[in-house]
Amino acid sequence: MAASAYNRFLTDDFAACPDCDLLQRLPVLEPQAAAVCRRCGRELRRYRPDSLNRTLALAAAAATLYVVANAVPMLGLTVVGREAETTVFGGAWHLLQNDQRLVGLLVLFTAVIAPAVQIALTLAVIAGVSRDHPPRWVARLMRLHPTAQTWSMIEVMMLGVLVALVKIADYATVIPGLALFVIGGLVLLLAAMQASFDPAEVWRRVTWVGARDSSLLPLELEATDADGRAVGRSALELGLERCDTCGLVSQPVGAESGRCPRCGAAIEFRKAEAFQRAWAFLIAAAICYVPANLLPVLRTTTDAGTDSDTILQGVVLLWSPRGWPLSLIVLVASIVIPSAKIAALAYLLITAQRGSAVSFNQRVRLYRTVEFIGRWSMVDVFVDTFTAALIQLQPLMSVEPGPGLVFFAAVVVLTMLAVESFDPRLIWDPAIGRGFATKEAGYA
Ligand SMILES: [Zn+2]
Ligand SMILES: [Zn+2]
Repeated sequence: MAASAYNRFLTDDFAACPDCDLLQRLPVLEPQAAAVCRRCGRELRRYRPDSLNRTLALAAAAATLYVVANAVPMLGLTVVGREAETTVFGGAWHLLQNDQRLVGLLVLFTAVIAPAVQIALTLAVIAGVSRDHPPRWVARLMRLHPTAQTWSMIEVMMLGVLVALVKIADYATVIPGLALFVIGGLVLLLAAMQASFDPAEVWRRVTWVGARDSSLLPLELEATDADGRAVGRSALELGLERCDTCGLVSQPVGAESGRCPRCGAAIEFRKAEAFQRAWAFLIAAAICYVPANLLPVLRTTTDAGTDSDTILQGVVLLWSPRGWPLSLIVLVASIVIPSAKIAALAYLLITAQRGSAVSFNQRVRLYRTVEFIGRWSMVDVFVDTFTAALIQLQPLMSVEPGPGLVFFAAVVVLTMLAVESFDPRLIWDPAIGRGFATKEAGYA
């Protein structure tokens, strides 16, 4: 029987923290107020009044700007009577045609495809849940939503284009195109769209696939430790699983993990093979890190010959009384962040695997920081992409991406995949059964 394969569940008044798995009852929220996890401080829910209408308006505006941004030139330059210009797509296209297919595909995906998918998904989800009986595909689209959001990197591209613009300004007159201003607006709109979107509101309306059975209550959410202090309990400790897609907390049927009664996604107590997968991506990233820094990322050809620059040489070249802030951005984004990320992830994996029972909160915060800043390392990929797309002034001067760029892009992507495969709840799991008082540990 298909129906019996679905779990029994708790109502949405309860939430299990996605970062530390603490099960807690949520308070009734005032408009714009947020409930945060009382152990690790992660935001669990925010009440956004009129979320669907606002998000719809912002998404429609973003869709319009997106079309304009991709239809008109973003950057142009003139030098000794020669002119050149490029669009967003033109940057990726140049790489695809010049033996840099992997990087070209990555730029195409993060700067063109993922943002379009992000906007289209948002529009489709809102159109779907606005019906009287929201169709099942809304749940399926919602599953893709966080992925599209992670890989949509318009704001990183914007920064990369600005750096490229200043870089090129040293030897040519750069003309910022209309698309550059439109993209600036698009960055703000996408941020506002994300901020106004309330997944909980969508899930309240989605048609349930399982039976409405929340007979799990009453649960003992609090226990007392040996010293008589009140301690919280994780969902795992109570035999409950949190759905990664919709956040519903349910009890698996029998020994199997089962399916979420609301959205139908397969659910597990912890991400499958989190350690193995995270280690595999991390080690691959560490290996790519070496050629990424030793091989040239840009090759400049002039009538005087060909010059190759590694990332570090690029940073040094940008360093000038005027250009040092940009040089610093590239240094931090391309050298400091990737190496710090690899070291931080290795530390998190090792301590979690050893069941370390100290500094839980600092480690979860470190994980969130790594998750948040990872995408910004893509800046140098965009700088090099648009520099190469624009400076094609043969025989005067031309710039091509070097073999280091694909390794550098690989480091960024592999560390992001390592972060996504890891499960931060594994950091907190050693706290189970140790009488870990939530209040001492958590309140910010
Ligand atoms: Zn938490
Ligand atoms: Zn679900």
